[in-house]
Amino acid sequence: MDMTEAMLAKIKASMAHAMEGAFYRKHFHGIHPEDIQTRADFQKLPFTEKEDLREAYPLGLLAVGEAEIVRIHSSSGTTGTPVIIPYTQKDVDDWAVMFARCYKTAGVTPLDRVHITPGYGLWTAGIGFQRGAELLGALAIPMGPGNTDKQIKMMIDLQSTVLCATSSYALLLAEEIEKRGLRDRIALKKSLIGSERWGEKMRARIAAELGVELYDIYGLTEIYGPGIGISCKHACGMHLWTDYLYYEIINPKTGAVQTEGETGELVITTLQKEGAPLIRYRTHDLTRELFGPCPCGREFPRIDTLIGRSDDMVKVKGTIIYPSQVDEVLAAIKEVSSEYQIIIDHLNGRDILNLLFETALHDKAAIKTLEKTVEGAFKERIGLTPHAKAVGMGELPRSEKKSTRIFDNRY
Ligand code: ZN
Repeated sequence: MDMTEAMLAKIKASMAHAMEGAFYRKHFHGIHPEDIQTRADFQKLPFTEKEDLREAYPLGLLAVGEAEIVRIHSSSGTTGTPVIIPYTQKDVDDWAVMFARCYKTAGVTPLDRVHITPGYGLWTAGIGFQRGAELLGALAIPMGPGNTDKQIKMMIDLQSTVLCATSSYALLLAEEIEKRGLRDRIALKKSLIGSERWGEKMRARIAAELGVELYDIYGLTEIYGPGIGISCKHACGMHLWTDYLYYEIINPKTGAVQTEGETGELVITTLQKEGAPLIRYRTHDLTRELFGPCPCGREFPRIDTLIGRSDDMVKVKGTIIYPSQVDEVLAAIKEVSSEYQIIIDHLNGRDILNLLFETALHDKAAIKTLEKTVEGAFKERIGLTPHAKAVGMGELPRSEKKSTRIFDNRY
Protein backbone atom coordinates (compact mmCIF):
# COMPACT_ATOMS: atom_id res chain seq x y z
CA MET A 1 0.00 0.00 0.00
CA ASP A 2 1.00 3.64 -0.41
CA MET A 3 3.00 5.33 2.30
CA THR A 4 1.85 8.87 3.02
CA GLU A 5 3.81 11.24 5.27
CA ALA A 6 1.24 10.61 7.99
CA MET A 7 1.66 6.85 7.61
CA LEU A 8 5.44 7.12 7.73
CA ALA A 9 5.14 9.11 10.98
CA LYS A 10 2.89 6.41 12.48
CA ILE A 11 5.29 3.67 11.42
CA LYS A 12 8.24 5.50 12.96
CA ALA A 13 6.34 5.98 16.21
CA SER A 14 5.45 2.28 16.30
CA MET A 15 9.03 1.35 15.56
CA ALA A 16 10.33 3.64 18.32
CA HIS A 17 7.90 2.02 20.75
CA ALA A 18 8.86 -1.49 19.59
CA MET A 19 12.51 -0.66 20.25
CA GLU A 20 11.72 0.05 23.89
CA GLY A 21 11.53 -3.74 24.19
CA ALA A 22 14.54 -6.06 24.16
CA PHE A 23 13.30 -8.03 21.14
CA TYR A 24 13.44 -5.20 18.57
CA ARG A 25 16.45 -3.52 20.18
CA LYS A 26 18.29 -6.69 19.25
CA HIS A 27 16.48 -7.29 15.95
CA PHE A 28 17.13 -3.74 14.67
CA HIS A 29 20.58 -3.53 16.21
CA GLY A 30 22.37 -0.43 14.90
CA ILE A 31 19.24 1.06 13.29
CA HIS A 32 17.43 4.09 14.73
CA PRO A 33 13.80 5.01 13.91
CA GLU A 34 15.08 8.41 12.75
CA ASP A 35 17.10 6.60 10.04
CA ILE A 36 13.77 5.82 8.35
CA GLN A 37 12.99 8.90 6.25
CA THR A 38 11.38 7.35 3.17
CA ARG A 39 9.46 4.31 2.03
CA ALA A 40 12.68 2.98 0.52
CA ASP A 41 14.42 3.24 3.91
CA PHE A 42 11.56 1.32 5.49
CA GLN A 43 11.81 -1.41 2.86
CA LYS A 44 15.41 -2.01 3.85
CA LEU A 45 14.44 -3.02 7.40
CA PRO A 46 14.81 -6.75 8.07
CA PHE A 47 11.60 -8.78 8.15
CA THR A 48 10.34 -10.36 11.34
CA GLU A 49 9.77 -14.11 10.99
CA LYS A 50 7.69 -16.44 13.13
CA GLU A 51 10.93 -18.22 13.99
CA ASP A 52 12.24 -14.97 15.53
CA LEU A 53 9.12 -14.81 17.72
CA ARG A 54 9.62 -18.44 18.79
CA GLU A 55 13.10 -17.60 19.99
CA ALA A 56 11.60 -14.95 22.26
CA TYR A 57 9.54 -17.59 24.11
CA PRO A 58 8.01 -17.17 26.63
CA LEU A 59 7.72 -13.40 27.18
CA GLY A 60 10.61 -11.94 25.24
CA LEU A 61 8.32 -9.92 22.95
CA LEU A 62 7.19 -7.59 25.74
CA ALA A 63 7.60 -3.93 24.77
CA VAL A 64 5.92 -2.55 27.94
CA GLY A 65 6.26 -3.17 31.69
CA GLU A 66 4.65 -6.38 32.88
CA ALA A 67 2.09 -4.44 34.96
CA GLU A 68 0.47 -3.26 31.73
CA ILE A 69 -0.11 -6.75 30.34
CA VAL A 70 -3.64 -8.08 30.89
CA ARG A 71 -3.75 -11.22 28.74
CA ILE A 72 -1.68 -13.50 26.57
CA HIS A 73 -2.54 -15.59 23.53
CA SER A 74 -0.47 -18.23 21.86
CA SER A 75 -0.33 -19.27 18.26
CA SER A 76 -0.82 -22.94 17.52
CA GLY A 77 2.54 -24.58 17.96
CA THR A 78 2.12 -27.45 15.50
CA THR A 79 5.87 -27.51 15.15
CA GLY A 80 8.14 -26.88 18.10
CA THR A 81 7.94 -23.99 20.52
CA PRO A 82 4.74 -21.92 20.48
CA VAL A 83 4.73 -18.13 20.17
CA ILE A 84 3.28 -16.11 23.04
CA ILE A 85 1.80 -12.69 22.30
CA PRO A 86 1.20 -10.37 25.29
CA TYR A 87 -1.70 -7.85 25.11
CA THR A 88 -2.28 -4.62 27.06
CA GLN A 89 -5.80 -3.39 27.85
CA LYS A 90 -5.59 -1.08 24.83
CA ASP A 91 -4.57 -4.02 22.63
CA VAL A 92 -7.56 -6.16 23.63
CA ASP A 93 -9.89 -3.16 23.32
CA ASP A 94 -8.51 -2.18 19.90
CA TRP A 95 -8.97 -5.76 18.74
CA ALA A 96 -12.64 -5.68 19.83
CA VAL A 97 -13.14 -2.35 17.99
CA MET A 98 -11.69 -3.85 14.80
CA PHE A 99 -13.80 -6.98 15.21
CA ALA A 100 -17.01 -5.01 15.78
CA ARG A 101 -16.16 -3.14 12.58
CA CYS A 102 -15.90 -6.50 10.79
CA TYR A 103 -19.37 -7.50 11.97
CA LYS A 104 -20.76 -4.13 10.84
CA THR A 105 -19.12 -4.56 7.45
CA ALA A 106 -20.91 -7.92 7.15
CA GLY A 107 -24.19 -6.19 7.98
CA VAL A 108 -24.51 -7.78 11.45
CA THR A 109 -26.69 -5.71 13.84
CA PRO A 110 -27.50 -5.70 17.59
CA LEU A 111 -30.53 -7.86 16.77
CA ASP A 112 -28.36 -10.70 15.46
CA ARG A 113 -27.55 -13.87 17.39
CA VAL A 114 -23.95 -14.82 16.76
CA HIS A 115 -23.11 -18.52 17.01
CA ILE A 116 -19.39 -18.79 17.74
CA THR A 117 -17.76 -22.17 17.02
CA PRO A 118 -14.02 -21.32 16.91
CA GLY A 119 -12.08 -22.46 19.97
CA TYR A 120 -11.55 -20.54 23.20
CA GLY A 121 -8.38 -20.56 25.28
CA LEU A 122 -4.87 -19.76 24.20
CA TRP A 123 -6.02 -19.58 20.61
CA THR A 124 -7.25 -16.09 19.66
CA ALA A 125 -10.32 -17.11 17.73
CA GLY A 126 -13.31 -17.63 20.05
CA ILE A 127 -12.77 -14.69 22.38
CA GLY A 128 -12.14 -12.33 19.45
CA PHE A 129 -15.45 -13.25 17.83
CA GLN A 130 -17.18 -12.91 21.19
CA ARG A 131 -15.82 -9.52 22.29
CA GLY A 132 -16.49 -8.02 18.87
CA ALA A 133 -20.09 -9.26 18.92
CA GLU A 134 -20.63 -7.92 22.43
CA LEU A 135 -19.13 -4.54 21.56
CA LEU A 136 -21.47 -4.31 18.59
CA GLY A 137 -24.36 -5.16 20.91
CA ALA A 138 -25.29 -8.45 19.25
CA LEU A 139 -26.09 -11.59 21.25
CA ALA A 140 -23.00 -13.81 21.46
CA ILE A 141 -23.53 -17.57 21.78
CA PRO A 142 -20.09 -18.83 22.89
CA MET A 143 -20.31 -22.47 21.72
CA GLY A 144 -16.68 -23.21 21.01
CA PRO A 145 -15.88 -26.17 18.76
CA GLY A 146 -17.15 -29.73 18.63
CA ASN A 147 -20.30 -31.60 19.69
CA THR A 148 -22.21 -31.22 16.46
CA ASP A 149 -25.52 -32.43 18.00
CA LYS A 150 -25.42 -29.66 20.57
CA GLN A 151 -24.34 -27.08 18.00
CA ILE A 152 -27.36 -27.86 15.83
CA LYS A 153 -29.77 -28.00 18.78
CA MET A 154 -28.65 -24.56 20.04
CA MET A 155 -28.71 -23.20 16.51
CA ILE A 156 -32.38 -24.22 16.21
CA ASP A 157 -33.51 -23.41 19.77
CA LEU A 158 -31.83 -20.00 19.87
CA GLN A 159 -32.45 -19.26 16.18
CA SER A 160 -28.83 -18.21 15.60
CA THR A 161 -28.59 -15.81 12.66
CA VAL A 162 -24.81 -15.58 12.20
CA LEU A 163 -22.44 -18.56 12.13
CA CYS A 164 -18.74 -17.99 12.86
CA ALA A 165 -16.56 -20.94 11.88
CA THR A 166 -13.62 -22.21 9.91
CA SER A 167 -14.61 -23.19 6.37
CA SER A 168 -14.02 -26.81 7.19
CA TYR A 169 -16.31 -26.78 10.25
CA ALA A 170 -18.97 -24.75 8.45
CA LEU A 171 -18.94 -27.45 5.77
CA LEU A 172 -19.30 -30.20 8.36
CA LEU A 173 -22.28 -28.41 9.96
CA ALA A 174 -23.82 -27.72 6.56
CA GLU A 175 -23.55 -31.40 5.62
CA GLU A 176 -25.10 -32.53 8.93
CA ILE A 177 -27.99 -30.06 8.68
CA GLU A 178 -28.64 -31.22 5.13
CA LYS A 179 -28.39 -34.91 6.07
CA ARG A 180 -30.83 -34.50 8.97
CA GLY A 181 -33.25 -32.45 6.87
CA LEU A 182 -33.15 -29.52 9.33
CA ARG A 183 -32.56 -26.74 6.85
CA ASP A 184 -36.08 -25.27 7.39
CA ARG A 185 -35.58 -25.05 11.14
CA ILE A 186 -32.39 -23.00 11.16
CA ALA A 187 -32.42 -19.20 10.87
CA LEU A 188 -28.86 -18.52 9.70
CA LYS A 189 -28.48 -15.57 7.34
CA LYS A 190 -24.76 -14.93 7.33
CA SER A 191 -21.58 -16.79 8.02
CA LEU A 192 -18.19 -15.32 8.90
CA ILE A 193 -15.50 -17.75 7.86
CA GLY A 194 -11.93 -17.65 9.17
CA SER A 195 -9.48 -16.75 6.50
CA GLU A 196 -7.88 -19.97 5.42
CA ARG A 197 -7.76 -20.46 1.69
CA TRP A 198 -10.90 -22.21 0.50
CA GLY A 199 -12.09 -22.87 -2.98
CA GLU A 200 -15.16 -21.72 -4.88
CA LYS A 201 -16.72 -25.16 -4.75
CA MET A 202 -16.65 -25.32 -0.96
CA ARG A 203 -17.93 -21.75 -0.76
CA ALA A 204 -20.85 -22.57 -3.04
CA ARG A 205 -21.75 -25.69 -1.06
CA ILE A 206 -21.72 -23.94 2.32
CA ALA A 207 -23.71 -20.99 0.98
CA ALA A 208 -26.29 -23.24 -0.67
CA GLU A 209 -26.68 -25.83 2.07
CA LEU A 210 -26.90 -23.29 4.90
CA GLY A 211 -28.65 -20.63 2.82
CA VAL A 212 -26.26 -17.91 4.00
CA GLU A 213 -24.18 -14.99 2.72
CA LEU A 214 -20.49 -15.69 3.30
CA TYR A 215 -17.85 -13.27 4.56
CA ASP A 216 -14.10 -13.95 4.72
CA ILE A 217 -12.61 -12.65 7.95
CA TYR A 218 -8.85 -12.20 8.15
CA GLY A 219 -6.34 -12.23 10.96
CA LEU A 220 -3.58 -14.09 12.77
CA THR A 221 -2.68 -14.46 16.42
CA GLU A 222 0.62 -12.62 16.03
CA ILE A 223 -1.31 -9.51 14.86
CA TYR A 224 -4.22 -9.41 17.40
CA GLY A 225 -6.10 -12.41 15.93
CA PRO A 226 -8.98 -12.71 13.46
CA GLY A 227 -10.76 -9.41 12.81
CA ILE A 228 -8.10 -7.20 11.21
CA GLY A 229 -9.98 -7.30 7.91
CA ILE A 230 -13.06 -8.75 6.23
CA SER A 231 -14.80 -8.94 2.86
CA CYS A 232 -17.87 -6.71 2.37
CA LYS A 233 -21.13 -7.68 0.68
CA HIS A 234 -19.56 -7.10 -2.75
CA ALA A 235 -17.19 -10.03 -2.06
CA CYS A 236 -14.26 -8.47 -3.91
CA GLY A 237 -11.33 -9.21 -1.63
CA MET A 238 -11.00 -8.13 2.01
CA HIS A 239 -10.79 -4.62 3.44
CA LEU A 240 -7.91 -4.27 5.93
CA TRP A 241 -8.11 -1.86 8.88
CA THR A 242 -5.17 0.35 8.00
CA ASP A 243 -5.66 2.69 10.93
CA TYR A 244 -4.19 -0.17 12.99
CA LEU A 245 -1.76 -1.68 10.50
CA TYR A 246 0.37 -1.02 7.46
CA TYR A 247 0.81 -3.79 4.91
CA GLU A 248 3.11 -4.73 2.05
CA ILE A 249 2.99 -7.55 -0.49
CA ILE A 250 6.41 -9.04 -1.13
CA ASN A 251 7.93 -11.56 -3.48
CA PRO A 252 8.32 -14.56 -1.13
CA LYS A 253 11.58 -15.59 -2.78
CA THR A 254 13.43 -12.27 -3.07
CA GLY A 255 11.69 -10.15 -0.40
CA ALA A 256 11.18 -7.31 -2.91
CA VAL A 257 7.99 -5.28 -2.43
CA GLN A 258 5.39 -5.82 -5.20
CA THR A 259 3.70 -2.62 -6.30
CA GLU A 260 1.81 -3.65 -9.43
CA GLY A 261 -0.70 -6.01 -7.87
CA GLU A 262 1.37 -9.16 -8.37
CA THR A 263 0.62 -12.13 -6.13
CA GLY A 264 2.96 -12.37 -3.16
CA GLU A 265 3.20 -12.70 0.58
CA LEU A 266 1.43 -10.33 2.96
CA VAL A 267 3.74 -8.50 5.39
CA ILE A 268 2.21 -6.50 8.24
CA THR A 269 3.46 -3.70 10.50
CA THR A 270 1.33 -2.84 13.53
CA LEU A 271 0.72 0.88 14.14
CA GLN A 272 -0.93 0.92 17.55
CA LYS A 273 0.00 -2.30 19.27
CA GLU A 274 1.56 -1.86 22.72
CA GLY A 275 2.25 -5.29 24.25
CA ALA A 276 4.01 -6.90 21.29
CA PRO A 277 4.30 -4.52 18.34
CA LEU A 278 5.50 -6.14 15.12
CA ILE A 279 7.39 -4.46 12.30
CA ARG A 280 7.41 -6.05 8.83
CA TYR A 281 6.01 -9.37 10.05
CA ARG A 282 5.87 -12.08 7.38
CA THR A 283 2.43 -13.73 7.49
CA HIS A 284 3.28 -16.27 4.76
CA ASP A 285 -0.28 -15.74 3.43
CA LEU A 286 -0.36 -15.38 -0.35
CA THR A 287 -2.56 -12.68 -1.84
CA ARG A 288 -2.34 -9.57 -4.01
CA GLU A 289 -3.25 -5.93 -3.62
CA LEU A 290 -6.53 -4.81 -5.23
CA PHE A 291 -6.64 -1.27 -6.55
CA GLY A 292 -9.48 1.18 -7.11
CA PRO A 293 -12.53 2.03 -5.02
CA CYS A 294 -14.81 -0.71 -3.67
CA PRO A 295 -18.48 -0.40 -4.67
CA CYS A 296 -19.35 -0.38 -0.93
CA GLY A 297 -17.68 3.04 -0.62
CA ARG A 298 -15.33 2.05 2.23
CA GLU A 299 -11.94 3.67 1.86
CA PHE A 300 -10.02 0.94 3.63
CA PRO A 301 -7.79 -0.72 1.01
CA ARG A 302 -8.35 -4.30 -0.12
CA ILE A 303 -6.31 -7.44 -0.61
CA ASP A 304 -7.58 -10.40 -2.63
CA THR A 305 -8.96 -13.61 -1.16
CA LEU A 306 -6.04 -15.71 0.09
CA ILE A 307 -4.74 -18.26 -2.38
CA GLY A 308 -2.66 -20.25 0.08
CA ARG A 309 0.45 -19.95 2.18
CA SER A 310 3.91 -19.49 0.81
CA ASP A 311 4.97 -22.48 2.93
CA ASP A 312 2.16 -24.60 1.35
CA MET A 313 3.54 -24.18 -2.14
CA VAL A 314 5.16 -27.48 -2.98
CA LYS A 315 7.56 -28.31 -5.71
CA VAL A 316 7.21 -31.76 -7.24
CA LYS A 317 9.42 -32.81 -10.16
CA GLY A 318 10.27 -29.16 -10.78
CA THR A 319 6.64 -27.99 -10.89
CA ILE A 320 5.30 -25.56 -8.27
CA ILE A 321 1.81 -26.45 -7.04
CA TYR A 322 -0.42 -23.98 -5.19
CA PRO A 323 -3.37 -25.45 -3.25
CA SER A 324 -5.65 -22.95 -5.03
CA GLN A 325 -4.80 -24.58 -8.38
CA VAL A 326 -5.95 -27.94 -7.05
CA ASP A 327 -9.20 -26.29 -5.89
CA GLU A 328 -9.73 -25.00 -9.44
CA VAL A 329 -9.06 -28.36 -11.05
CA LEU A 330 -11.53 -30.15 -8.77
CA ALA A 331 -14.14 -27.37 -8.94
CA ALA A 332 -14.48 -27.97 -12.67
CA ILE A 333 -15.37 -31.65 -12.24
CA LYS A 334 -19.00 -32.20 -11.28
CA GLU A 335 -18.80 -35.60 -9.54
CA VAL A 336 -16.00 -34.50 -7.17
CA SER A 337 -16.53 -32.81 -3.76
CA SER A 338 -14.49 -29.84 -2.54
CA GLU A 339 -12.43 -31.94 -0.13
CA TYR A 340 -9.08 -33.38 -1.10
CA GLN A 341 -5.65 -34.35 0.21
CA ILE A 342 -2.34 -34.36 -1.54
CA ILE A 343 0.30 -36.73 -0.25
CA ILE A 344 3.79 -36.55 -1.68
CA ASP A 345 6.10 -39.49 -1.18
CA HIS A 346 9.59 -40.26 -2.33
CA LEU A 347 10.01 -43.85 -3.50
CA ASN A 348 12.98 -45.43 -5.28
CA GLY A 349 14.49 -42.05 -6.07
CA ARG A 350 11.26 -40.60 -7.51
CA ASP A 351 8.65 -38.18 -6.19
CA ILE A 352 5.13 -39.60 -6.21
CA LEU A 353 2.12 -37.29 -6.04
CA ASN A 354 -1.03 -38.90 -4.64
CA LEU A 355 -4.33 -37.05 -4.81
CA LEU A 356 -7.26 -38.26 -2.70
CA PHE A 357 -10.67 -36.80 -3.47
CA GLU A 358 -14.26 -37.49 -2.44
CA THR A 359 -17.09 -38.58 -4.69
CA ALA A 360 -20.67 -39.75 -4.19
CA LEU A 361 -20.32 -42.29 -7.03
CA HIS A 362 -20.46 -45.98 -6.08
CA ASP A 363 -20.10 -47.78 -9.39
CA LYS A 364 -16.56 -49.16 -9.68
CA ALA A 365 -16.19 -48.55 -13.41
CA ALA A 366 -17.54 -45.00 -13.07
CA ILE A 367 -15.07 -44.32 -10.26
CA LYS A 368 -12.18 -45.58 -12.39
CA THR A 369 -13.23 -43.26 -15.22
CA LEU A 370 -13.55 -40.35 -12.80
CA GLU A 371 -10.03 -40.98 -11.46
CA LYS A 372 -8.69 -40.85 -15.01
CA THR A 373 -10.63 -37.61 -15.65
CA VAL A 374 -9.14 -36.03 -12.51
CA GLU A 375 -5.62 -37.12 -13.49
CA GLY A 376 -6.06 -35.65 -16.98
CA ALA A 377 -7.44 -32.33 -15.72
CA PHE A 378 -4.64 -32.06 -13.16
CA LYS A 379 -2.02 -32.72 -15.82
CA GLU A 380 -3.56 -30.14 -18.15
CA ARG A 381 -3.85 -27.37 -15.54
CA ILE A 382 -0.76 -28.00 -13.39
CA GLY A 383 1.58 -29.88 -15.66
CA LEU A 384 2.11 -33.23 -13.99
CA THR A 385 0.06 -36.36 -13.51
CA PRO A 386 -0.93 -37.44 -9.99
CA HIS A 387 -2.10 -40.86 -8.83
CA ALA A 388 -5.74 -39.94 -8.25
CA LYS A 389 -7.79 -42.04 -5.85
CA ALA A 390 -11.47 -41.59 -5.07
CA VAL A 391 -12.86 -42.08 -1.55
CA GLY A 392 -16.46 -41.83 -0.31
CA MET A 393 -18.15 -38.58 0.73
CA GLY A 394 -17.16 -37.49 4.24
CA GLU A 395 -14.14 -39.82 4.44
CA LEU A 396 -11.52 -37.08 4.41
CA PRO A 397 -11.18 -35.23 7.72
CA ARG A 398 -13.07 -31.98 8.40
CA SER A 399 -11.42 -30.07 11.16
CA GLU A 400 -12.48 -27.36 13.59
CA LYS A 401 -9.20 -25.60 13.01
CA LYS A 402 -7.54 -24.89 9.72
CA SER A 403 -7.28 -28.07 7.71
CA THR A 404 -4.07 -29.36 6.20
CA ARG A 405 -4.46 -30.66 2.69
CA ILE A 406 -0.91 -31.17 1.56
CA PHE A 407 1.27 -33.74 3.29
CA ASP A 408 4.83 -33.77 2.12
CA ASN A 409 6.52 -36.98 3.30
CA ARG A 410 9.71 -36.48 1.35
CA TYR A 411 11.78 -34.92 4.10
ZN1 ZN B 1 -16.18 -3.05 0.05
